[in-house]
Order: sequence, then C-alpha cells, then structure tokens
Amino acid sequence: MRARYSNVLLLVAAILAFLPVMAVDFLLDIYVWGRERTDLQQRTETVASRVQATAYEALGDIRQLISNGPSLCSPAFVEQARLLIEQGTAIRQVLVENINGVQFCDALGRTMSFRPLSEELAIPGRSEKLRLVTVGASNLPMLQVSLVFGAGRKLSVFAPAKPEAAQSTIQGFATGSMVRLQLTDGTLISEMGDAATYDARSGTEYLEASALAGDLPIRVSAALPFANARAGYGVLDTAFTLLTCLSFGTWLLVALRFVRRNELPAFDLERAIALGEIRPYYQPVIDLRTGQLAGCEVLCRWEKRSGEIVQPGLFIEYAETTGLAIPMTVSLMHQVSQDLDELNRLVPGLKVSINLFEGHFRDNRIVEDVHNIFSPSALKFRQLVFEITERSPIDKHPHTKSVIAGLHALGCRLAMDDAGTGHSNLAYMQTLGVDIIKIDRVFVDMIKTGVQQVPVLDGLINMSRELGTDVIAEGVETEEQAVYLRARGVVMAQGYLFAPPLKAKAYCNFARAVNAHMIDQKSEAEEPAPQQTVTAA
Ligand code: C2E
Ligand code: CA
Ligand code: CA
Repeated sequence: MRARYSNVLLLVAAILAFLPVMAVDFLLDIYVWGRERTDLQQRTETVASRVQATAYEALGDIRQLISNGPSLCSPAFVEQARLLIEQGTAIRQVLVENINGVQFCDALGRTMSFRPLSEELAIPGRSEKLRLVTVGASNLPMLQVSLVFGAGRKLSVFAPAKPEAAQSTIQGFATGSMVRLQLTDGTLISEMGDAATYDARSGTEYLEASALAGDLPIRVSAALPFANARAGYGVLDTAFTLLTCLSFGTWLLVALRFVRRNELPAFDLERAIALGEIRPYYQPVIDLRTGQLAGCEVLCRWEKRSGEIVQPGLFIEYAETTGLAIPMTVSLMHQVSQDLDELNRLVPGLKVSINLFEGHFRDNRIVEDVHNIFSPSALKFRQLVFEITERSPIDKHPHTKSVIAGLHALGCRLAMDDAGTGHSNLAYMQTLGVDIIKIDRVFVDMIKTGVQQVPVLDGLINMSRELGTDVIAEGVETEEQAVYLRARGVVMAQGYLFAPPLKAKAYCNFARAVNAHMIDQKSEAEEPAPQQTVTAA
C-alpha cells in the first residue's frame, strides 16, 4: 500500500515538475504581449505627436500671418510668408485664393498646382480647416491648413503630411511592423512597413496600437505580428525554461528523496537485492529449560551504502506485493548458508528459522531453491524451519500442499508465525501440517507483574500441546515472562530479554559464548570453560 502511495506521489511530483515548464511559455506570452503592446503604443503616440507638431506649426503660421496685420498679398505679406517658409521647419508654401480657387498670390511667386485628396475637415474648436492634397507632379501628400475670412478670401498653408521620410518614421518599430497615417474620415495619408501583410492577415495574431494627432482629425495606427515581438525574447525564454527545469528538477529530486526516505522502496529494492544489501540478521532463540541457544530466526535488514539501516517493516509489504520477496529470500538463504557455515561446524544442530510469505506457495520454486542452496551447506535440512503467517492465507493456493510436502520431504519443518493474531484454528493448522507454533508477542505482553494467569495465552499453549506441535514464544522482554512461559511448559523463546536480531558476526559470538561448553566438549583438547547461560534459564 505504502509503495503504491509512493508511486502516486512520484507521478504527481513528475506532473507538477513538468507543468511549470509549460507555464513559462504561457506566462512569457502574457508578459511579451503586455510589454510589447505598451511599447508599440508609445511609438505610435510619438509618430502622432510629430504629425501634430507639423500641423500645429502650420496653424501657428496662419495666426502669425494674420496677427501681424498686413493686407493679404502686399509685398510685406509675401515677404513675411517667404520668411516663415525659410525659418520654419514645417511649411512649404503659403497661398491666398478666393473660395473658387482663383489664386491671388503665394509665397514663392508662382502659380501653385495642387489636387485635393480629401474633403476639408473641421478642427474642433478652431476656424481653420484641414485637408489632404498632392502638390504639383509629386505624389507627396501635403496637409493644407486654411482659413476663410474677409471677402471670401482663403489663406492656406501647406505642410508635409508625414513628419519625416518614411524610413525614419518606421525606425524604432520592430521588424515586420506597419505604421499607417490616415485622416479620421479614412483617407489614407501614407503607410510604412509591411501594411499589405497586415491587411491580408487571417488568424495571425497582431499587436495593435493607435493614436490621434492631438485634436487634429489625423489618426496614426500601427501593428506588429506577435510572433515577431515574441522572437525577440528567445534568449529569455530559454533562460527561463532552463531555470524552471532546474528549480523544479531540484524540487522533483527533493520529492524523490522524501519518498525514498519515508515510503522507500519502489525504486531500488530490486537493485538492493542484487547487490546483497538485504542482509540477514539473526535473533537468537533460547531453550528456556537450559538457557542454551536453540537456534535463531532470520530477520532481514536493508543495509544501505550510506550506512542507513532500514527495518523490514518499511519494505517487506512492498517486497511481498511485487514478488521481490522471492529473490530476496533466495539471496538471504545464500547469505545464511555462508554466515553460519563455520558456526555450524562448531555448534552443530542449531535451528534456523526463515520467514516465507504466501507468494512462496504459488509454485514449487522455493523447494528447489532450498534444496539447491542448502545441499552443499554445512547446515542440514532438518535444522531449517520455514515460518508462514496467517496474515495472508496460503491454503487457497493449489501448490500449498505440494510445497509443504516438498519441504517436509527434505526434512525441514514448518512454523505458524504470529499464531493467535489471525483466524487460526485447529483444522487450519492440521491441514497445513504445521510443526511449530510461534506465539505472537501480544500474548506474551499480557504477562505483567501481579498477573497470575493469562487465559488466552494458556489456551494457545494448550492448543499447541493438543496438536502435538512445538511452541516458540516471541517478544519475551522480561524475566517474569520467561518464568511464566517455562512454568507452562514452553520450551523455546526469543525476545529482547535474550538478544535483539544480531549481525552474523555478533550472532556467532553470542552462540559461542552461550553454548561454550558444547564447543569445549567438541574440541576436547582445551580446558573446559565455565558454562555460560542466558538470564532466564
Ligand atoms: P516477525 O516474523 O513476527 O518477526 C518478529 C519481529 O519482532 C521482528 O521484527 C523482531 O525484530 C521483533 N522482535 C523480536 N524480539 C522482540 C521483543 O522482545 N520485543 C519487540 N517489541 N519486538 C521484538 P522485525 O525484524 O522488524 O521484522 C518485522 C517483520 O518483518 C517480521 O515479523 C516478519 O513478518 C517480516 N520479516 C522480517 N524479515 C523477513 C524476511 O526475511 N522475509 C519475510 N517474508 N518477512 C520478514
Ligand atoms: Ca517470523
Ligand atoms: Ca512473529
């Protein structure tokens, strides 16, 4: 279950780590859109204000020509008009005509030919009017700002409709931009850049901006393909993506480490088994009558290269669910055979209990593995005990009987682990052919100071006696418990009172110390050492 959570957590972490990479693109799009749109608007307003400046200069000039008071077309008037053209920056011509277009005079002393391109448009709040014209043969668009007064006289000032050459107007706009100047009635003054592509756009995203030239009836509009604007942010895009990948990759690693540390094993249990990192620890089983060592239970530990030691509670369930418990048991049995080889020659006959799980009863592989591993070993099959727990019932498997029969045929024995905690009953144990019952520590724990009798425990002991099985009490932590059990005829016990699960070397030393007299008897050559027994014996 834990492993499944680990996987889900990992998957979520991976998705979460990937999302920001996509989000960078999206967020950068929004950022570029906002920023470039503002930039385009500012540039458009700059163009509009330059157009406005030219037109305002023309308006100013008209005011000046009138305010100085000379009568229209007098030599002084013409001279003043000529000076305005010379000294000013905007106006190119001054013309006096009647409302029918009959020319009276101009600043440059020649008849002026021009062609209107638009209607005359009013300028809000002013008497002057404005229209677009072309002058002479050139197609240069000019603004004609005119004022009608007196006896139907019309004074006009001409200024270029575009403030500067097209090239410099479009300068500063990004590649692919277009800038368009129009009168507010729609008459085109000029367009610069790639206006044709803009007009033919279909579905292409454009940034757009527009501005009026002050209170004049002139509009400047500009547009830029969004892709062009975005292209300028390539480096930023790469940098952001890399940065996000890096930070979220780090985050993923942290999540991974978290999962590995807390939920563990989804990832490298298989590798750990192959590398031999799953090590057997040996918890001594003591004969309560003699205080001698009777054998041990093999309990695995994951010894990581980092030095961390992981308890089986954190990975056994995963190992069992995934079936990795099968190669794990094989690896443990190989190590047990090696670890106990020398000790077994010194103290022969010590029992070794190995934990199995229901997966071992799905086929006969375990019987073959036990046979192959222990045939060449100093450990005899009759020293081996295989523990099964009722947590996951094995009687449902068709091979259960043949596996148990196979192990029995080799001479191994079978123990029912954690007896009393599941739904064990006489019939179940009899059908399975259990030789030993291991009483779970929850029952041993019921033996407390002042407690004379523990009926459940006594019932379990009696039941195993009736079944003719041996009994091993688990989790014996106090002398009181050992004494109680011995008084009820329980012969074998394991628990912290005697020793916790020990590393191979420590277990061999423990065995040598506890069963010293047996070693002495065997070697015969040496002086007999004083017999050492364990506390509760
Ligand atoms: P288990 O088979 O019931 O093993 C007994 C557990 O009780 C062990 O926990 C042992 O260290 C602990 N223990 C021993 N004496 C005492 C004591 O006096 N007091 C207390 N409180 N606990 C004591 P461990 O080593 O953590 O193993 C836990 C479980 O993991 C085992 O329960 C067993 O079901 C499983 N396991 C361990 N090694 C293997 C293995 O190699 N294969 C399989 N299939 N399961 C294993
Ligand atoms: Ca066990
Ligand atoms: Ca147990």
